Amino acid sequence: QERTLVLIKPDAVARGYVGEILARIERKGLRLAALELKVAPNEVAQQHYAEHEGRPFYPSLLEFITSGPLVAAVVEGPRAVAAFRQLAGGTDPVEKAIPGTIRGDFGLETQENLVHGSDSVESAEREIALWFPAL
Ligand code: ATP
Repeated sequence: QERTLVLIKPDAVARGYVGEILARIERKGLRLAALELKVAPNEVAQQHYAEHEGRPFYPSLLEFITSGPLVAAVVEGPRAVAAFRQLAGGTDPVEKAIPGTIRGDFGLETQENLVHGSDSVESAEREIALWFPAL
């Protein structure tokens, strides 16, 4: 069993897609191990996106991710990291994510692309420690 950190980003929460996205995770056979709705503190957002510091979109990304409530979840299952990234689709909802994926079905913009999923087991453990320090 593997764990991944999923964020249902503020755009998806504001648009009312929390239930739809959680349902897709559950239908895939993945399990919710932790779930929380909250506004991301600035320090958490900065650490989460530390690898993008210095990129032109970084300030705007931080503003977006802290702009309203998001849902953070720990999702568990066999190959959970890759399985959730398959559900999410590519980063750009139009050019990369194909229909049938969360971003491909519901997104238009690269920044406001509905969800985050850890990109490796190592990132997942780092991100879970950041978002769910008690776990
Ligand atoms: P995530 O890490 O959120 O799952 P990802 O791994 O598909 O997304 P990254 O390249 O790590 O994509 O980028 C992290 C996030 O930063 C993206 O999900 C998106 O919200 C935002 N982002 C990435 N590239 C751009 C860009 N060129 N313009 C605006 N926002 C961007």
